[in-house]
Amino acid sequence: MMPVLEDFGLVDACRQAGFVEKTGATFIWGKNREPWDIQFADTPFLPSGFAFHVDRAVFDKILLDNARACGTEVQMRARVTTPLNEDGRIVGVIYENADGETVTARASFVIDASGAASVIGRTATERRYDDRMRQVALYSYYRNIRGAEGFRRGHITVESSPKGWFWFIPMDSEQLGEVSLGLVTGQEFTDEIRVKGAEAFYEEALALAPYVREMIGPQARRVKPIHIVRDWAYTCDKAAGPGYYLAGDAAAFLDPLLSTGVSLAMLAGYSASVCIHTALSEPTMEHEATEFYANNYRQMYEVTRDFLHYFYAGNASAHPNELFWNARRMLKFDENIGAKQAFSFFINTIPGNPHPALQKQIPLFQQFMKKLDHTVNEINSPTGDLVTQQLRLTDRLMDDDVPVVNGRLESSWQFNRAKHLLEQVRGVTFDLDRPIFSSTSSWLLGRNIAALKNEAWDLLKLVDGRRSWSSIVGQYTAAHEGGACQDGEAVSKIIAPLLAEKFVLVRDQP
Ligand SMILES: Cc1cc2nc3c(=O)[nH]c(=O)nc-3n(C[C@H](O)[C@H](O)[C@H](O)COP(=O)(O)OP(=O)(O)OC[C@H]3O[C@@H](n4cnc5c(N)ncnc54)[C@H](O)[C@@H]3O)c2cc1C
Repeated sequence: MMPVLEDFGLVDACRQAGFVEKTGATFIWGKNREPWDIQFADTPFLPSGFAFHVDRAVFDKILLDNARACGTEVQMRARVTTPLNEDGRIVGVIYENADGETVTARASFVIDASGAASVIGRTATERRYDDRMRQVALYSYYRNIRGAEGFRRGHITVESSPKGWFWFIPMDSEQLGEVSLGLVTGQEFTDEIRVKGAEAFYEEALALAPYVREMIGPQARRVKPIHIVRDWAYTCDKAAGPGYYLAGDAAAFLDPLLSTGVSLAMLAGYSASVCIHTALSEPTMEHEATEFYANNYRQMYEVTRDFLHYFYAGNASAHPNELFWNARRMLKFDENIGAKQAFSFFINTIPGNPHPALQKQIPLFQQFMKKLDHTVNEINSPTGDLVTQQLRLTDRLMDDDVPVVNGRLESSWQFNRAKHLLEQVRGVTFDLDRPIFSSTSSWLLGRNIAALKNEAWDLLKLVDGRRSWSSIVGQYTAAHEGGACQDGEAVSKIIAPLLAEKFVLVRDQP
C-alpha cells in the first residue's frame, strides 16, 4: 500500500485520520505456542517499515477526495448494470445514476474495481474457486480492550485455534471501535454455525484462543453484532483483456491471513492506470501493456496462493486431529512450486548462492523454517538444476572458467513511476519462477530485474553455462569487430561489475 500512498502524497492524510501504524505481525502459529513476530522494518524486501490499519470507510473517502482533486468526475450512488461489449472489446458501461436514470458511458478502457461483484469480470472472464480454501469468517469490533504491549502494539496478531484462527487488528476507529477481532473458520462448520448460532460459535472458539483473549482483556465490550462472510477464494482466467482491466477483488481474492487484500487492490489499480496510460500514449503498446498486467496478476496470485497453502499446512501439529487443520494439512510439493523452491533454496541454493536478492531473504527463510511445521524430510523429489549446480564467486574470469548467469536474462517491462509509463528493460531477473518469500506486490509493480547496458546484455547472451570464458571473448570480439572491444581486456571490463554484483558466477567443472 505504501508505495501507492507515497506516490499520491497521501501518507500524511492517513496519519491525520488517526490510522494506527502497522509495524508488523505477531503469530501464534506453527511448531509451538510461543508468539513470534515479523517486523516490517527488518524485512528487506518490504518498501516501508510500516503500513496502516485503516477504517475502510474513512480510507476510501481519502482516496475518493484525492481522485476528485486530481480532476476525476465522481458519480456517487451509481450502479453499473451492464458492460458494453462490441466485437469482443469492452467499450464502456451502462449504469443507473443516483436519480434512477439509465446512462450509457463509453470509454477507451474500463477498470472494474467492483470487488467480488466483478461486474465486468463475470462476463469477460471465467471465475475459479480455490477448493482448498472454502472459508467462513465471523468478526466484530471491541472497545476497552487491553491491547498488546511494547513493540507489538501496532502489530496484527494472528492466533490459530482448534476451529481456525483469529485476527486481532488494532483499529482505534471512532465508528468501529478499538479493535477488529475475527475468526476464520471453514465451511466444514456451516451446519454447526447454523444450529448454534454465529454468536455462540464465535464465543466458543474465542474461549480456546488464550493469547487473543488476554489481549482483549476483562473490560472489553463488543460494539457490533457478529458479521459473517464466506467463500472468498477465487481467481479469474485473465485480469485484463481488450478494453478492460480487473483490479482488486474484481480479479481475485485469496484469504485474510496475509492481510494483502486492500494493498493488492490499490497496487492493482495503480498498475492498471500505468498500463492504460502507456496504451493511450502509444497505441501500438496496448497489447503488451494488457499482457504485462494479466501475466503479473496471475504470477502474483500464484505466489501468494502457494505461500498461503504453505503457511496453513505449517500449522498442522498445533491442532492435531482437528477437522479444520486436517483439511488444510495437505501441501502438495509437486503442485506448490513456491514451497518446493523454498525448501530447495533453504537446503541447497541459499548457502551456496550469494545472489544479493537471495541473501537478503535468508533470515526470513530461516525464521519460517524454524517456526512452521515443515521439515526438510518432506522433500522427496529432485527440485531442479538450481540445487545441484556447483557455483563459486570470482572477481576475475580465467580463460578456462565457465561463467554462469546468476538469474535469468530477460527482456521485460518496468514502471517509470515519474512518467507513469511502462518502459522496456533488459537485464537479469532474480525472482525465478515463484519465490514465495518475495514481496507479492513486486509482481504488480513489475519484475525484479537488474537492467543491463547493451554491451553487457550482448555479452551475457553468450554466457550459456557451458562455454569457457576464452571462447565467449573470442565470439564477442569477432562480433564487435571495429568497435571498442577489440581484446580480452576490454571485454573483461564489461563483465567485471557483473562479477562484483554477483550477477555472474563460475561453474566448477565436475
Ligand atoms: C473475512 C475477510 C477479512 C479481510 N481482512 C482484510 C484485512 O485485514 N486486510 C486487508 O487488506 N484485506 C482484508 N480483506 C480483503 C479486503 O476486504 C478486500 O480484498 C478489499 O476490500 C478489496 O478491495 P476492492 O476495492 O477490490 O473491493 P471492495 O472493497 O469490495 O469495493 C468494491 C466497491 O465496488 C462497489 N460496487 C460493487 N458493485 C458495483 C456496481 N455494480 N456498480 C458500482 N459499484 C459497485 C461496491 O459498492 C464497493 O464500494 C478481508 C476479506 C475478508 C473476506
